[in-house]
This record gives sequence, C-alpha cells and structure tokens, in this order.
Amino acid sequence: MFVALTQNQQRLSLVIPDPSVNPSPPYYCPVCRQEVMMKQGTKRRWHFAHLQSNLCTDTSEPETEEHLTGKAELYKWLLSKGVVPMIERFLPSIQRRADLFFTYQGQDYAIEFQCASISTEETITRTQDYLSENIIPLWIYSSNRIRSSAPSRFSIHAFEWSGLRERYTDGHRAITYFSPSTSTFFFLFPRAVFTSTITFADLYALQTADTSMSMLLQLPATKAGRIIWQNQWLHKKKQWRYERNDWRSQTDRYYTRHLFASYQSDIPFFPGEAGWPVRGMEYFETPPHLWQSALLLDVLATLPLYHSFSFQTVVEVFSFVITSHLKTRSLPFITTPLETITAGYFNALQKMGSIRQTKTGWMRIKPIHLPRSLDEGFHMDKKWHQSIFYS
Ligand SMILES: [Zn+2]
Repeated sequence: MFVALTQNQQRLSLVIPDPSVNPSPPYYCPVCRQEVMMKQGTKRRWHFAHLQSNLCTDTSEPETEEHLTGKAELYKWLLSKGVVPMIERFLPSIQRRADLFFTYQGQDYAIEFQCASISTEETITRTQDYLSENIIPLWIYSSNRIRSSAPSRFSIHAFEWSGLRERYTDGHRAITYFSPSTSTFFFLFPRAVFTSTITFADLYALQTADTSMSMLLQLPATKAGRIIWQNQWLHKKKQWRYERNDWRSQTDRYYTRHLFASYQSDIPFFPGEAGWPVRGMEYFETPPHLWQSALLLDVLATLPLYHSFSFQTVVEVFSFVITSHLKTRSLPFITTPLETITAGYFNALQKMGSIRQTKTGWMRIKPIHLPRSLDEGFHMDKKWHQSIFYS
C-alpha cells in the first residue's frame, strides 16, 4: 500500500515519492492501526507493508508490483484530467478502502483496480457497500486478465461480469481493463455468450492519453465489430442436440426436462427457434437453448395465436419462471437486464417469423414446433441460422 499514518496521525502517501518530505518511523496502517514498514526499493515502487499482515482486516499482502503500478498510473491519469484523486481512501462507514477515490461533476467514484481473481460474491458485496454510500464503484481489471484463445473469442472469469457497465447512449455493455505497463485502457464488449467459459466479444484499446473522463465513466463510442463466429455457433447448436451436454450438471436441468416432458419430448429436441445469440444474453448463466426454450414453451406457448399481448406481460411471467428455475448473473450496473434480453429475443423471433409486432403489442403468428428427430432439429437450425446471421 502507498498510504500510512505517521506518529502525528498525518497521511503519508508514497504514490509519488518525495524524499524531501520523509517523516521518520514509526508508521501505522490507516485501517488496523498496526505498525507498517516503509519499503524503499530500487526495483520496486516505494510502498508500506505490514510487519504482520495476517492481523490486518483489509489487506491481501504481499501486494503485487502490478497492483501498485496500476494504482499509481491511474492516480496520475486522474490528476492529468484535473481530478483530485485520493489514493487508498478508507471509508469507515463501510469498512472499505478504495484503491482510488474521487469526485467528478458532483458524483463520488471509487476505482477498484483488481488483478487477482476474487469471488463473485465478494465483488457484489463490495459494489453494494459503495452504492449504499452513493459512491459509484468502477471495476477496472488488470489487462493481464484478458484471455483470448482466437480472434473475437475470450474467456471471462465469473467475477469480471460483475463489473459490466452500460453505455449511456445506446445501452451497449463493456468490461473495463487497464494495462499500467503500456498505459492503455481496454474495453471488452461482449457480443454473444457461447458457454460459461467462451464469450465472443469486441475488444477496443485506448491509450490513456487519448481517453477522456467521459470515455472511462460512460464507455467510449465504438462501432460493433464484424461477426466471424457464425459457423462456430451453428456447430454449438449441433453439439447441444447430438452430444452429452453441460446442462446435465446444472440445477436448471430438472425444470427444463420436466418442461419438455410435458410436451412428450426431451431437451435435444428443443425448437429450432431456441438457442440463438441475442443482445444482453450475458444475463443468463443457463445456456441459451434452455432459457429460450423456457420462454417459448412455458410463456409464449400459453398465449393464443393471433391475439395481441403486451411485452410487459411476457417479461413479468418470464421473470417468475427465471426466479424459480433458471440461473442468472448478478449485473449490478445493468438497469433493465430482463427487458433487454427479452426484447433481443423478440427481435430474433420476429426474424424467424414466429411473432410480429402489432399496434398494441405483439402477436404469435406460428405454432411452436418441436422436431421429432435430431436431424430434423438440426435441419431447422441450419435454416434459422441464415435468418439470424444474414438478414
Ligand atoms: Zn492494516
């Protein structure tokens, strides 16, 4: 850590070390008040370390050089924007220490520069603590966490999803990363969640010198990248039908199996209209062919053909199904995740000719068909693949 208290209870920060101002030890941790040591290395940044870190409630020492450098670089970047940041500000009311704290246009922000993996629960709890104090937390992950196995193909760790934020102008969403060594922000815009470990996304890099405050706070204006994963998606649908699937290990399998059983069918015979990438789909941990089947068979199928229904009715009924039977991600910065994903899927269903918009709402215009064989199912998949990706 960069900040300690002197014997006179003065804050001493080493983020930009000044050898001329160097009060003598002892120094104390601002959180646990135990004695800390000043480490004035030649290779590592100057910082403080606990003598006995295991007794402190608010530290995960040894702190990595990457974490120290990230905080220092973000601090300098904020200064360059005319913002007065406080490094490692301790907030007694919530017992949290923000890596960086600042006020911009009347709003308080806390930056959490996260390098190591933590649990989703920890991320959500920290987020809620800050929000309870009207502080907006900005989760900025180390760029070393960006894992890409192929172009547009990324592996996003479970807790990183909690930092997903929405662009004010058009609702597009991104996760923010930062590289202290190259002074670059990265914005990862998910396009389609393929499996729990594979996400297709657009990644944009912005040098700190070219990044304004509003770009960081509200996400930069970007254009969606070209889709190059259409065929991989079709291949995935084939796997969902023909192979043993990961749904077998999931808690939502009981519900979906029962749902299909009520149609004298089974999961591999899911409708061709289910299992497509739609906007906002990161909301679900349940695979897309399952939650879309649930929406089709348990919600839409109960509404009569050629009768207008309201979007909000579907959202309300689907919300009930989700709470009882499906798995979603906690996305604390996303305002209307369910409305967005339902609208996204309605758009896909309209492309496939299942529903259409009316003056007063929506209308089903085609019965939902469950394929009788796997081959028939995959034949439908290939047909709708054209409508989804090429129309
Ligand atoms: Zn301490």
